[in-house]
Amino acid sequence: MNTLAESQTESAARLDAAHAWHPFTQMSEHLAHPRLFIERGEGCWLYDTDGNRYLDSNASIWTNVHGHNDPELNAALIEQVNKIAHSTTLGLAHPTGAALSEKLVSIAPDNLSRVFYSDNGSNAVEIALKLSFQYWQLTGKPEKTGVIALTSAYHGDTFGTMSVGDSGGFHSRFAPWCFPVERIPTPVSDEAAGVIHSEDMSASLKRLDEILDEKASTTACLIMEPWVQGSAGLRLQPRGFLREVADRCRRAGVHLILDEVFVGFGRVGPMLICREEGVEPDFLCLAKGLTAGYLPLAATLTTEAVFEAFLGRFEEYKAFYHGHTFTGNPLGAVVALKSIEKLEARMADGRHAETLAAFEAAVKQYGADSELYPVVRQRGMLAALELPEHPIEQRTGLKVALEARKHGLICRALGDTLLVVPPLVISPEEIDFLFKQLTRATQIVLNDSASA
Ligand SMILES: *Cc1c(COP(=O)(O)O)cnc(C)c1O
Repeated sequence: MNTLAESQTESAARLDAAHAWHPFTQMSEHLAHPRLFIERGEGCWLYDTDGNRYLDSNASIWTNVHGHNDPELNAALIEQVNKIAHSTTLGLAHPTGAALSEKLVSIAPDNLSRVFYSDNGSNAVEIALKLSFQYWQLTGKPEKTGVIALTSAYHGDTFGTMSVGDSGGFHSRFAPWCFPVERIPTPVSDEAAGVIHSEDMSASLKRLDEILDEKASTTACLIMEPWVQGSAGLRLQPRGFLREVADRCRRAGVHLILDEVFVGFGRVGPMLICREEGVEPDFLCLAKGLTAGYLPLAATLTTEAVFEAFLGRFEEYKAFYHGHTFTGNPLGAVVALKSIEKLEARMADGRHAETLAAFEAAVKQYGADSELYPVVRQRGMLAALELPEHPIEQRTGLKVALEARKHGLICRALGDTLLVVPPLVISPEEIDFLFKQLTRATQIVLNDSASA
């Protein structure tokens, strides 16, 4: 097997086929199609082991902010790794983590003053839920155990986050092991290529009012993704919905947990949505863009009131017994700190706003072809382009994603919806390239399926 003539790609393909198991992937499909091995990245581009380059319109699963191989982020990382890669934050601290906590608090709403680190978005949400549950026990309201969540929500793949999530196809097999939650229907903003057709949140708010009237005294928290439900296929919420929900939670004495794992750090425009909207959540969950796509790091922010409820003598067992081995890793923290500084600079001098405008204009232009894309949604630096309906087994979305690779583009399809989520620093020329190539790939696949 191991011949000298084997190329790097061939050897990777052989080993991948023999041993790998990829997440959220039907492996029989993965093994049947040509596989790409990404060797390096530069700006918004990915390079495979054969030297071909592809525009990363998936921002390496919605994480990349400043492009790949960014010299400033690299330098910060190298400086840190030359000091120490990891110690622990269980009982010890490090200066980088302390500095990042201050930075996160400075960009968050005024009420949030404490930062609890972990290493992925699911954990950030688990931690918020557990903190809320324990807070009510510690403050003499142990009956407050209930959770309210939205339909089509996605908060991660662990049992707690699957319980509050509603990603039927992804998680229904595990329903017997999940805890029950109250659901309110997600209001959907019917918006195509930036044009709002209808916005109605009355059914959601009516159901929320009913639940709160009946059960506020036994409800711990409400959790939601503000503005956009990412994994549901980029479902856009009507503007003002977050504020309506937040006001109701506040009045009813129910914690508000905002999951900004996807939408935070400029992805839909502002650094943080809660701050932009003047909403003060009790818990704020951050991950994905936090480290600009470099390293696994997550944070759960909360208030001084929550923090203080956990203080006491050791033998009272009020401490929060939760922690992951790599919690608050300094390599992740140093990159996060540098990334936020760079993003603040982009926002301050108008570069971010220019990119947002160019992206929105391109979605309007290329998304206008309703033969290709009957439904188009866009907000900030994300767009969902729905293909015309095809039977699921035709795998039309996957075919477009595979065809796009031949045209120098990495694009992710969720069923027959193409998700465009590029790095935030993408240039106008790259945006144009992205949509041109995506259109070309879509035309080829739809023509093939029409003639088949
Ligand atoms: C990705 C995501 C998560 C889960 O984060 P992981 O790091 O993949 O565990 C949670 N919530 C939202 C909104 C997400 O997009």
